[in-house]
Amino acid sequence: MFRCAEIIAVGTELLLGNIANTNAREISEALAGIGIDVDYHTVVGDNPARLASAVEIARHRADLLLFTGGLGPTYDDLTKQTVCSAFGIPLVFHPEIQEEIRQYVEAVFHHAPSDCNRQQAFLPEGCTIFHNPVGTAPGCGFTDGGVTVIMLPGVPSECRYLLRHSVLPFLQTGSREVIVSRNIRVFGLGEPTVQEKLLTLMNDSVNPSLAPYAKTGEVLLRLTAKAPDAAVGKAMMRPMLQSVRDTLGEFVYGVDVASLEEAVFHLLAERNLTFSAAESCTGGLVAKRITDLPGASGVFKGGVVSYTNEVKNRVLGVPAALLERCGAVSDEVARAMAQGVRQLTASDLAISVTGVAGPDSDDRGNPVGTVFVGLDTPTGTYVRSLLLGGGREIIRTVSAHHAFDMLRRYLTGATIE
Ligand code: ATP
Ligand code: MG
Repeated sequence: MFRCAEIIAVGTELLLGNIANTNAREISEALAGIGIDVDYHTVVGDNPARLASAVEIARHRADLLLFTGGLGPTYDDLTKQTVCSAFGIPLVFHPEIQEEIRQYVEAVFHHAPSDCNRQQAFLPEGCTIFHNPVGTAPGCGFTDGGVTVIMLPGVPSECRYLLRHSVLPFLQTGSREVIVSRNIRVFGLGEPTVQEKLLTLMNDSVNPSLAPYAKTGEVLLRLTAKAPDAAVGKAMMRPMLQSVRDTLGEFVYGVDVASLEEAVFHLLAERNLTFSAAESCTGGLVAKRITDLPGASGVFKGGVVSYTNEVKNRVLGVPAALLERCGAVSDEVARAMAQGVRQLTASDLAISVTGVAGPDSDDRGNPVGTVFVGLDTPTGTYVRSLLLGGGREIIRTVSAHHAFDMLRRYLTGATIE
C-alpha cells in the first residue's frame, strides 16, 4: 500500500489563475475512495527546470506521484520528457498508439493527425499504458525504485476517464488488500455536531476508519476498511456502521445512496406513492433534482414554479387575503401552497418552498435565508421554518434538501418539523 501520495498538476494556466485545479480535487477524491491518503498538491508551470525540481522534491517525500497535464502534442507539453529524464527512463515509440491517435483524430476532426501527435506515441519504457478513447494523449504508469508514477492528460474529461477506467484498477492490482468503503449520509446535523457525537468512535477507528466530509448543507461520513476481500471488509464495517446509526438515529438518511432525492425516490417507489411540488424561491430545483433520476415519473407528478403572488393565487389557489395578511414568505402560505399543489395534481404528498434567497430581504423585512418548507399529506400539513445562511445558491440548495428531508421523514415515520 502507498504511504503517501502527491498530485502534481502541470500548467502555467493554473498558476496564472486562469483555470482552477479541478483535476487535483477529482484525483484526491478518487484516491480517498480507495483509501490512499494524498499529502501534497503541487502546481508547477510548463517549465522543464521547475518541473524537474518538483519531481525531485516529490519522489523523496511520496511514493505515489500523479501528474496531470502536459501530455499534449504541443511544444509546451513536457511532462513525459521531464519526468522520464528525472527517473532515467527512456521514452519508447509505440506504433500501435500512433495508429490509435490517427483513428481518433480522423474520426473526431476529419483530418489527418499532425506531426506533433507523433510525440504522444512515445511512452516510458516498460510502463503500463492507459489507452485514451476520449482524446489523443494516452496516460501511463510505472514503478521505479519504490516510487509509482502516474501521468494523466490535463483535459478534465480525459483525466477523469483514465482515472476511473485505468488508474484505480492499476493501483489496486498487486496489492493483497482491497479497500472497501461505505458512505453514510447525514442531514440535519452540522459537521461539528456530528464530530462531537462520534468523537470517540472516530478517534478509536483505525481499520475500519471513520471520517467526516462536509458537503453543502449535509455531512458525509466515510467508513473505510482494508481487508483481504470485499466481503470481509464489509463484515468488518458492520459493527461501526451500527454504532453510527445508533448514535445519529434518524439523521442518517441513507447508506451508499447518492443524495436525499435518491433516498426519497426509493421510499416513494417502494410504497407506490407520488408527490408534487410548489416552489417559489427554489425556482424548480426540487423538480429538477427529482427528475434528474431515471424513472422519476413513477414518483413525481409535476410541479408549479409559483414565483409571484398572482400564480400562488391563480394556479395554487392560495387565498389573496392570506397572501395579503401573512405575506408570501410565511408558515400559512407554505401550508396553502403545499395543499394547493397536492389537490391540483392529485398526488399523494406535496411539498412547498417559499423564502427569501437574497441578496435583499423581502418587502416585509424577512431577512435573507428565511424559508418555509411545507409538506401536505393525507394525515396533515407540516411546515418547517428555517433561517439559512450562505448565499443565494446555497440557500436554494439547502431549502431543496429540507423539502426532500421532510418527505423522507414522513415516509420513514420520523419526526418531521
Ligand atoms: P492537450 O492534449 O489538450 O494539450 P494536455 O495533457 O497537454 O492536453 P494541458 O495542455 O496541460 O493538457 O491542458 C489541457 C487543458 O486542460 C487546459 O487548457 C485546461 O483547460 C485543462 N486543464 C489542464 N490541467 C488542469 C487541471 N489541473 N485542472 C483542471 N483543468 C485542467
Ligand atoms: Mg497541452
